[in-house]
Amino acid sequence: MWITPWANAPSIDRLDIDALWERGIRGLLLDLDNTLVPNHPLHPEYGTVPVAVRAWLDAAQTKGIRLVCVTNNKKLAYCQKAEALLGFPLIPAGKKPWGQGLMQGLRQLDLSFKEVAVIGDRPTTDGLGGHWLRCPVLLVASLSYPYEPKLYHVLRAMEYWIVKPALYPQLVKYDC
Ligand SMILES: [Mg+2]
Repeated sequence: MWITPWANAPSIDRLDIDALWERGIRGLLLDLDNTLVPNHPLHPEYGTVPVAVRAWLDAAQTKGIRLVCVTNNKKLAYCQKAEALLGFPLIPAGKKPWGQGLMQGLRQLDLSFKEVAVIGDRPTTDGLGGHWLRCPVLLVASLSYPYEPKLYHVLRAMEYWIVKPALYPQLVKYDC
């Protein structure tokens, strides 16, 4: 059970939208917590979409990339608030890595699995879910990482044992 992601990025806004487009990506299935919205109360942008992430999402949509968020979060009020904040469809209780939420998202995007990348911070949920759907997978570091306890860091490192080296590391920009 291995995942070969297209890229590992320090945050979603470092992913090169033009390069994703050139590789045929026309839609994204995005994780919510710690990918688009920091969910650690100590994070200065807790509960909001950070400015850099917002700019990246807007740029992706301007490029013509369709967006759907699929979260495992089951709290309906929280998910409704997040959907309003994001401004594009959000599927709650997605049960990643199992297929239901991601399949629903794929249908909503109305694209083939080859045209849709799954982006998230967790290899064992977002990563495996995308891998099983045969979609390209892009992994990002958790937005809350600097605020998380050391134990979380150990658990996150353990999750990366299933992750093989990235296929296209050049999809990550470091000059922005
Ligand atoms: Mg997450």
